[in-house]
Amino acid sequence: MSGGDKLDFEIRPNPAPVSAADRAALLANPGFGRVFTDHMVTVRYADGKGWYDARVEARGPIPMDPASAVLHYAQEIFEGLKAYRTADGGVTMFRPDANAARFVESAQRMAMPELPPEVFVDSLHKLIEIDREWIPTGEDGSLYLRPFMFASEVFLGVRPANEYLYMVIASPVGAYFTGGVKPVTVWVSPDYTRAAPGGTGAAKCGGNYATSLAAQAEAIEAGCDQVVFLDAVERRFVEELGGMNVFFVYDDDSVVTPPLNGTILPGITREAIMTLAGKAGHSVEERSVSFADWQADAASGRLREVFACGTAAVITPIGQVKFPDGEFLIGGGEPGRVSMSLRQQLVDIQRGKAADPHGWVRKVL
Ligand SMILES: *Cc1c(COP(=O)(O)O)cnc(C)c1O
Repeated sequence: MSGGDKLDFEIRPNPAPVSAADRAALLANPGFGRVFTDHMVTVRYADGKGWYDARVEARGPIPMDPASAVLHYAQEIFEGLKAYRTADGGVTMFRPDANAARFVESAQRMAMPELPPEVFVDSLHKLIEIDREWIPTGEDGSLYLRPFMFASEVFLGVRPANEYLYMVIASPVGAYFTGGVKPVTVWVSPDYTRAAPGGTGAAKCGGNYATSLAAQAEAIEAGCDQVVFLDAVERRFVEELGGMNVFFVYDDDSVVTPPLNGTILPGITREAIMTLAGKAGHSVEERSVSFADWQADAASGRLREVFACGTAAVITPIGQVKFPDGEFLIGGGEPGRVSMSLRQQLVDIQRGKAADPHGWVRKVL
């Protein structure tokens, strides 16, 4: 079937899956993004034909012509979300429909075909079903799902490709923080920006990460964990980290995050935190925060907490900020009360330990 919003997936089980003993050894300490499951999803697209050949098959290398368009002009987008094991032995995902919708928006910006959200969500279900044994059983483990799509047409002309490959791979991951949540130190990049108005900052495309890596390397060189980017026009306003959104918590308990103005990635964690903070009685505001105010408010004590957020780490407190002319601490460098409370609320919903009044949790198995 092709062209419609529903595709039938052909299931081709891996004839040589990893043994149960080897899998158990891998799951004991999977780290992040190093261990992969036995299967993958592939769905092809061609202009005039639509989406076709939806499959779940053995995970393995994909043959690629050296003239495949993605290798030259970087038409590529991706998503990231997690599947969790629940206490009752079931499996859930957190807001896969939101990832599906964002995948469509990313595709539009990159002049790529739109994958029907129903096919996106169905592809995740199919992969989780066949690889369910790969979901870590521990309290903090999960199966990280990585859907992505790229231009596979063999052609060197510069125009939107007319053939694409959509895929999903899955990677069991352990606790992001081993030994408790540790605040990170961020580097305010003086030289690099991440996204300009009219650019691709709001699209989840590999190219955004490629351009962030030199800045990230600069952050590491400066003894920091992560880079934080300022806006590209005035170089004044805080935008986000290389792969996480940012929140500020003030002494009146108000919570502030920079507005989505096209240069910031619309994080699903960001949106969930805004909702949870509002329900917990915080005033929640989307407004720009200048680096100068960040520094001044940290010095005066008005600013109590700053944290970064995203699917991988949920909430990461920011304890210290460094820049070429100096550095300052936030909340004495310790994780803040509001940050940790919001983190716990969100994790409990994701893990099925708390009620889910917003209908964010989707049952898979
Ligand atoms: C994916 C991503 C985020 C976080 O999005 P979530 O949906 O919360 O995982 C934030 N910033 C960038 C640049 C991202 O790519």
